[in-house]
Amino acid sequence: GSLPDPGLVRRLLDEAHRRFAPVQDGAVANYIPALAAADPDRFGLAIVSATGERYAVGDARHPFTIQSVSKPFVFALVANALGHEEVKQLLGVNNSGLPFDSVIAVELNPGRTANPMVNAGAIATTSLVPGADAAAKWEFVRAGLSRFAGRELAMDDEVYESESRTNDRNEGIARLLKGYGRIYSDPLEATDVYTRQCSLLVTTEDLAVMSATLADGGVNPITRERVIDADSCKRTLAVLATAGMYERSGEWLYEVGLPAKSGVGGGIITVIPGKGGLASYSPLLDDAGNSVRGTLATAFLSTTLGLNVFASA
Ligand code: GLU
Repeated sequence: GSLPDPGLVRRLLDEAHRRFAPVQDGAVANYIPALAAADPDRFGLAIVSATGERYAVGDARHPFTIQSVSKPFVFALVANALGHEEVKQLLGVNNSGLPFDSVIAVELNPGRTANPMVNAGAIATTSLVPGADAAAKWEFVRAGLSRFAGRELAMDDEVYESESRTNDRNEGIARLLKGYGRIYSDPLEATDVYTRQCSLLVTTEDLAVMSATLADGGVNPITRERVIDADSCKRTLAVLATAGMYERSGEWLYEVGLPAKSGVGGGIITVIPGKGGLASYSPLLDDAGNSVRGTLATAFLSTTLGLNVFASA
């Protein structure tokens, strides 16, 4: 399959932007001090097809920090390096139904794991990144996410430092996991690399390319580079479908019918398997941490473009 006719995609993307730009519901994230400075009016949408066509509207070139949208890409790279059986054993792949920074998610899981889309599982994922030292591990992550984006990504130092100074909860989660043998390197080193990965600067257009790479079996449709193998890509989409949208993952799948991941910076990626990637940016978040305008625009586009993977026609 492929996306509908380019004229229709362009028209509906513009329509989604027009329709939802006036929405003022939600609030910018403030638990990381530097994120509270985000401009609530920013709103960008972008689509990249699996054949490399690009569409964008609004603030699609405005940079923001990737935050939790980094999680599927780091998981994909680690699954690609270790194999899908190994990462399932080491990280767990079940939805926790709990907030992203939950400690209970670890305590309630019989294996004392979580899943790679909540902080516990994401920090554990980062602890499996190959590399001789912290600098090499960080470079593996930065270079890997850059291949997904098709350009060299760099960190927002201010957001990184702001989150580092207020990172007690993530450090606590990492130490708890270490106590259960579920962190596979030094816990504070893993938390630091994880915090760096969350601070990478991306645009909505970058996220659409990254998402399209997951839609295209691991091949970046712009650079044509194979970033990960097709099996790791398929497993990543499964994890996204069950746990990508915080504790609204079930509602999202019910309404939108597509694997997606959001971050508290205001970004969302939505993967249309085999067809392309959709991305949105708007920093006003609902109480679970999902961008309000991004959720509305994605649901609108999934319906009007007929993208729901559970639909028979
Ligand atoms: N860096 C953030 C944290 O770990 C990411 C949160 C998110 O986007 O869900 O708290």
